[in-house]
Amino acid sequence: MVKLEQISESVWDYYYKELEGHISIVKLTEYLVFIDSGLYPQMAKEVREKAEECLGLPTKYLILTHHHGDHIWGNQEFEDCEIIASKAVLDLLKIRLADEKFLKIIENMINENPERYGDLRIILPTKTFINEYQIEDDNIRIQIYQTDGHSEGSSFVLIPEERVLIAGDLLFSQMFPYFGDPTADVYKWIDCYNKMLELSPKIVIPGHGDIVDKKEIISQKEYLQSCINWMTEFIKKGHKKEELEDNKDFPVHPREIPVENFEEFLNDSKLRTYDVIRREMG
Ligand SMILES: [Zn+2]
Repeated sequence: MVKLEQISESVWDYYYKELEGHISIVKLTEYLVFIDSGLYPQMAKEVREKAEECLGLPTKYLILTHHHGDHIWGNQEFEDCEIIASKAVLDLLKIRLADEKFLKIIENMINENPERYGDLRIILPTKTFINEYQIEDDNIRIQIYQTDGHSEGSSFVLIPEERVLIAGDLLFSQMFPYFGDPTADVYKWIDCYNKMLELSPKIVIPGHGDIVDKKEIISQKEYLQSCINWMTEFIKKGHKKEELEDNKDFPVHPREIPVENFEEFLNDSKLRTYDVIRREMG
């Protein structure tokens, strides 16, 4: 059964155990705005129905924080809405849809789990922006900031009047932040954390994990900075990228929870960080 939690005067949240994921809903005077569509269509459908029934309003917009599947695989349940994302998200999704390897992964996913993904269609954003975008009515403003970092195009959402920040995967809560996407950029991610802190949110809904406050932003920023420092030293000492896989002293997240693909996530993150820092060092 779908359970929505009220987070502030205008924000509700659906939390699902499987990936410790979130779908958030903002209530404006005449309509609802969804943020991310979740892991699979049926989930999105149920959450939308529940929200519209409980809050008594139709849905007008879906905002996508980034292009990763677990945040967009419910999009087809919002085809009658304007689907908003940064332009980079649309571009990355178009590249994925033209990529045979990616399509094969989707096909396998559908075959392995037909009940969940059987009718999956990848629906693209219908409205894009660069840097910032706003939705507002007389009562409330929804501000979207594109910062990149976790992935190119990654954005977070702020409800300034209620000081609620919906981070997408720009914040993982009390767990290892995946920074292994081929478009991840640790420097931009640190800038993003600084921007979030400047906005001084009271409540932060992460992409994964428990709802937290800004202390978690500080703690994740410190962790990412320690990874940057470690990698900078590693490169300065003349080590090669090939040596990374076996290297065991890369900083460990203080509250690491063992997850299934952790080794792979960590390894991707190390390799991508190497490339980004190498590029920066010239
Ligand atoms: Zn992600």
